[in-house]
Amino acid sequence: MTRGIGLYVHVPFCASRCPYCDFATAPATTALRGRYLEALGREIAREGDLLGRPRVRTLFFGGGTPSLLEPAEIERLGDDLRRAFVFRPREVTLEANPATLDRARLDAWLALGLTRLSLGAQSFDASGLRALGRTHQPEDSGAAVAVAREARLDVNLDLIFGWPGQTVAAWESDLDIAAALGPDHVSCYPLELRLDPDGSIPNWPGGGWPVLERWRAAAAAAQPDDAGIARMYRVAERSLGRAGYRHYEIANWARPQKRSLHNLGYWRDRDWLGVGAGAHTHLAGARSANPADLRAYIARVESGSARAIDADADPPSENAMLALRLDSGLDLERYAARFGDTAATRVRTALREVEPAHLVQVRGRHARLTARGRLLASEVFIRLLP
Ligand code: SF4
Repeated sequence: MTRGIGLYVHVPFCASRCPYCDFATAPATTALRGRYLEALGREIAREGDLLGRPRVRTLFFGGGTPSLLEPAEIERLGDDLRRAFVFRPREVTLEANPATLDRARLDAWLALGLTRLSLGAQSFDASGLRALGRTHQPEDSGAAVAVAREARLDVNLDLIFGWPGQTVAAWESDLDIAAALGPDHVSCYPLELRLDPDGSIPNWPGGGWPVLERWRAAAAAAQPDDAGIARMYRVAERSLGRAGYRHYEIANWARPQKRSLHNLGYWRDRDWLGVGAGAHTHLAGARSANPADLRAYIARVESGSARAIDADADPPSENAMLALRLDSGLDLERYAARFGDTAATRVRTALREVEPAHLVQVRGRHARLTARGRLLASEVFIRLLP
């Protein structure tokens, strides 16, 4: 682990639950926060110890809404991290809801080494934010970008397309407004509405899955169809390309030198440790995950039991899928050197099958998704599974 690790810290608390969201989230009640942060501190100390206090290369605070933490909580988290790891990250990202960022909290994050703010703007259209069940207003995102710039932070904007009732013109307008704010990085995700229950629901009081299911079924019926979504994706490629952003990963665009170093670590199949509810880990080729249910997570940490290794994970196929997500694609020779000839032949055969459909391009030792392949990546990935 000489190159160090990427560290992901999950802070699950949100002011309210957005009905489309499947992340491990929970209400930000004081009692739950206290118990959770206590367990998180214990997990950080334990993992730092088990791994021999590795160097943290990149750090990402995701959620949930980590920007909701109070300055004292952020300070304590910083102390826990510095004790457990050699703490010299090149990039420290914080996910923030545009309406939850204030100066006192931001100062606490800056003291922890924050370099980059990832804002969940999602849309600049009031009807889009309403359709997504978001509680912030369109103008909040521009104000949050200005605060981040004043603090000399890099900025990512997350956008969602394909929300109920969205037109291509409305999406073009969202992209134009985003580009005009001048972020360093833009992530665009199609709205995907899973219609089956999910692990984070037990964390929230209220109607549970039946209420969400009704909302999602109605939203899915009002979404643009597949052809409309595909058109929106192509519009994003054109519009962000014109504005000077390079499309370097299926859902991500960046200005030169502004790609997400932390997320590149995932796609390049490097080592990363995830701490907190629902967080995933990939260390020395083994994958594991924490429970998404907060109480189950806290119980696991308190019992001191080891994380469960995912025995179903298939490192060779995961590596190929991750590499293909990037514009640099998959280097088939390096792949063969790492995973052996049998795995490399399996990947080459699978890619040859989808080449006639213009989903991938194989030139010598390099395989890359085409523009059509980026749009239909799951068609390629499914063939790479064992
Ligand atoms: S604020 Fe973000 S993490 Fe929280 S429920 Fe909404 S989409 Fe999910």
